[in-house]
Amino acid sequence: MSESFHWYRGRIAPSPTGLLHLGHARTFWIAYVRARDAAGTLVLRNEDLDPQRSKADFADAMLEDLHWLGIHWQEGPDVGGTFGPYSQSERRDHYLSLWHQLLARGFIYPCTCSRRELSGIALAPHDDAPSRKTMRFEGDEGPMYPGTCRPKSAPSNLADQYTSPAGVNWRFRVPDGEAVTFNDRHFGPQRFTAGEDFGDFPIWRRDDVPAYQLAVVADDHAMQITEVVRGADLLLSTARQILIYRTLGWPEPQWFHTPLVLDERGERLAKRHDALAIRTLREQGWTPQQVLGIDK
Ligand code: GLU
Repeated sequence: MSESFHWYRGRIAPSPTGLLHLGHARTFWIAYVRARDAAGTLVLRNEDLDPQRSKADFADAMLEDLHWLGIHWQEGPDVGGTFGPYSQSERRDHYLSLWHQLLARGFIYPCTCSRRELSGIALAPHDDAPSRKTMRFEGDEGPMYPGTCRPKSAPSNLADQYTSPAGVNWRFRVPDGEAVTFNDRHFGPQRFTAGEDFGDFPIWRRDDVPAYQLAVVADDHAMQITEVVRGADLLLSTARQILIYRTLGWPEPQWFHTPLVLDERGERLAKRHDALAIRTLREQGWTPQQVLGIDK
């Protein structure tokens, strides 16, 4: 076996929609160390999927902050590699191909519910909408899709009607009652039930932007990622993504979710916590070790 052949392929996948903060730094550091300790390859994927929210300035800042932290990657938008391009905005053909496969197999359906209608259901229930009492929620991600546009059975002829995803939202039809289990390498055994813990989830947006769940599965598969390291806020998304892997008969990567960093009020750090942006801390004189909370 050649020495350059690595069994471990990990990735860090920041979205350039804001400045990276302390929480990102710690998760990405763990991903880096796991790849390094496995003598593996780390991929940096620029998740600039959403053209409205992604900014080139944030992408530049993100690379710079990661370098400053001492995180190195072997493949990425700045260094190239065999599995490129490494920016999601340049990978549309991969996502379209996955959309076609899911459509041909009857796993997705068009959804015309507007965001407004859906949040209306949650906020102001009226007679023909599910009441707040019977409404189900997906963890802290908001209300579960009530199934308004879900066809009674898996549609078989949609592939004849739709040659492109644009114009409507597309959702993945989850197999109600099916258990999704996985052994998280940090948190241990996990179990979610489709249709109870999460409902039919978005695959493609009406404004012709692929959804996160579809893009991330397409990319992790195409880039031959063997272990996904990311924050525990994405555990429920992992369950959704496993359903896509199962549907296609694709091998699943291993999963390692990292504990979330909470602020002083016990709330999850978000990009709006500018005070904890790596940049800000750096300007205040913090060292990479202090930001990472580790002895390197
Ligand atoms: N781009 C996502 C984010 O910044 C992370 C996706 C992932 O690691 O799967 O939240």
